[in-house]
Amino acid sequence: MKVGYIGVGNMGGPMCRNLIKRSNHSVTVFDLNPEAVKTCTDLGATAGKSIADVTRGADIVMTSLPMPRDVEAVTLGADGILANAGKGQTYIDLSTNAPSMVKKIGAAMAAKGVAMLDAPVSGGTVGAEAATIAIMVGGDKKVFDDALPVLQSFSANVIHMGELGTGTVAKLVNNMMAFCNAAAAAEGLMLGVTAGLDPHKLVQVISSSSGNSSAFKSFSERALSGKFSPPSFALNLAHKDLHLAMELADELDVPLPQGSATHNLQRMARRMGLGNNDSSAILQVYESVLKKTVKP
Ligand code: NAD
Repeated sequence: MKVGYIGVGNMGGPMCRNLIKRSNHSVTVFDLNPEAVKTCTDLGATAGKSIADVTRGADIVMTSLPMPRDVEAVTLGADGILANAGKGQTYIDLSTNAPSMVKKIGAAMAAKGVAMLDAPVSGGTVGAEAATIAIMVGGDKKVFDDALPVLQSFSANVIHMGELGTGTVAKLVNNMMAFCNAAAAAEGLMLGVTAGLDPHKLVQVISSSSGNSSAFKSFSERALSGKFSPPSFALNLAHKDLHLAMELADELDVPLPQGSATHNLQRMARRMGLGNNDSSAILQVYESVLKKTVKP
């Protein structure tokens, strides 16, 4: 198959490199950052000159982009994917997008005979490198089945959730839970170290106790190192995800007291100028208030 890949940053990069390494598909890559493109062309991909270049003639075009507005611009914007795609092609969005934006793009694609799947991913950059990430997919089952071998070349856990948009809803639920876990970890670690506990022993004991979680593992590593930059998952992107979950909850009138508190905590960290740091930088809000760090 011919695959076009747009957006090869922290997540898109390792996913695309696994696609190149673990399959025989012919891959053409486009990103605004030439260094990111080079990491893929070094492995045999072709560098596309534009979105149009990547889209024309591809069986599948994929995007992994930061914000819903970026996905909108790349798909529906002038000389974007839609303008260059035609009947029989499939577009797959791997970004964490808004369910409403997914449906808007899907309808515009369908009107031109282009199939769409929303396929957000979870597992972080470590999971993306190891091809152990989960991909939660929404869209037509036949389109999903046809695209499955391509998705499986960079993920061990591809799950069809239902109609278009359902993958994105599952992703927003997952991330809200992960961020609430991280916020609880920040409070717990600060309480423990302020009471005089050794932070390494505290992390060790929680890691084998009921307070443990997958979010705690990556969060506690960052907390103990005191290194929140460069990000593997930027706070600005985490804040975007939680904003989208809150928006969905507003639409459905579902109360989210934990999600809402965590979203405000992320906002405090952004207001401290930490938006481009890792999402675990929410800890620095507490560290700043308590004038104490988890890092010994
Ligand atoms: P990133 O900022 O590291 O990468 C985004 C890439 O898109 C960059 O290389 C950028 O140059 C490129 N880009 C932006 N606009 C473009 C355009 N108009 N044309 C071409 N390229 C463009 O972000 P990321 O962390 O890789 O996240 C990508 C998506 O994956 C986001 O929606 C994020 O929420 C989601 N996600 C991230 C993680 C993570 O751990 N980083 C995990 C799961 C999901």
